[in-house]
Amino acid sequence: MLMDAGVLPWCPDCRWNLDVYDPALAPWRGTRMIGRWGFRRGLEVDRATHEQLLADPAARPAATSSGEAWLSAVSVVLALLGLAAVGYLVWLAVASDLPPGVRLALAIPAALVLLLVKPSFGRMPTYGVITEREAPHLHRLVREVADAAGTPVPDVICADLSLNAGVARLGWRQRSVLVIGIPLWVMLPRPARASLLAHELGHLANGDPLRVRRTLLARTFGARAVAATGGRNPWRRAVGAADSLAEEGRGTVVLLGMIVHGVLALANVAAATAQLLVDSVAMPDSRRAEYRADLVARRVAGSAPFLQSSETVLLAGRIWQDLWHLAPRIDGGQLEAMAAEARQRLTVHLPLARQLSRRSTDLWSTHPSDDQRMRLIEALPSVDGECGVDDSRWANIDAELAPWRRAAHNALLGTRDRF
Ligand SMILES: [Zn+2]
Repeated sequence: MLMDAGVLPWCPDCRWNLDVYDPALAPWRGTRMIGRWGFRRGLEVDRATHEQLLADPAARPAATSSGEAWLSAVSVVLALLGLAAVGYLVWLAVASDLPPGVRLALAIPAALVLLLVKPSFGRMPTYGVITEREAPHLHRLVREVADAAGTPVPDVICADLSLNAGVARLGWRQRSVLVIGIPLWVMLPRPARASLLAHELGHLANGDPLRVRRTLLARTFGARAVAATGGRNPWRRAVGAADSLAEEGRGTVVLLGMIVHGVLALANVAAATAQLLVDSVAMPDSRRAEYRADLVARRVAGSAPFLQSSETVLLAGRIWQDLWHLAPRIDGGQLEAMAAEARQRLTVHLPLARQLSRRSTDLWSTHPSDDQRMRLIEALPSVDGECGVDDSRWANIDAELAPWRRAAHNALLGTRDRF
């Protein structure tokens, strides 16, 4: 039995009490009730998906998943709402002969609707784009992995300094962007890097409703409404605002201010809840898409590299911490070797970190827990990857990314002051 401050106890050996909703670790979803529901639903979806994929790992996703159909329908409704608001505003401005003040007041709700449904495309990164001229070997590797995975080649490859990697559709043309977080990249053993790429590229062709152009409006309206009404923790903000108003102490102003802040907080919670509801219908497909991307990674890069990459992700925060201590004594070129050593040293933490990942994931998490993902691959026969890359090619890619390793090293040195 394991006891940790604020964390519900479980048995690491027999997994007793491991799969419980633990408010200390589960993502915060506004209320405990929603959080608990999302946690349980996540477990159910994972269990069902695990069995399906285990029975038929090679099954192709349906051309249009039900989650995608649902999000597309919601997007159409939102688009119509937006069009109606535009029509109404035009009518107000041109055809109605109401006094200007009344027109302005009547325009406010329509303007709010427009703010809500206006698509936000996401900005193409301007920093970190790695062109084919700069890194021909990296581009060739990405192309090969995409071919083996049976997915389109991403339009843009870029690097950043996060402990992460991802694919997204960005800009008004919704071009596909592969983002490689260099800190994570240098921590990964070479074959595991191919596995990471295969997983990410797998998202471009696995029926993931969260990465399709047609679902953009439905995916983003809640987040935008939450941002427009002040972001997270609306009630705390409302109470804070009421407090500071009360200190100034003018009766009607205080009351008016409290009403405005209360309405904003209500709109905020309503938008967040609406988005959670919309997402909960689409999430099972998105979840399945994650496991499918893992199956692509297994086929393209092999079982062992996939598991290595998952283990590295689980330890990434700790490895980064270790490198931070070492940073003043090494240069960017040594980063990789030091990361490999740290990974080795920290493997003792793996079993627990892996189990805990189950508690920090729910239905709306971007990925199933690392433990669940690893269990699926471990349950399938171990395979070698289709896409082999020899050491000289990896060395070429390393050389192309040398400036980025230096940037990561600088980031380590720079962040020292903050702690
Ligand atoms: Zn993924």
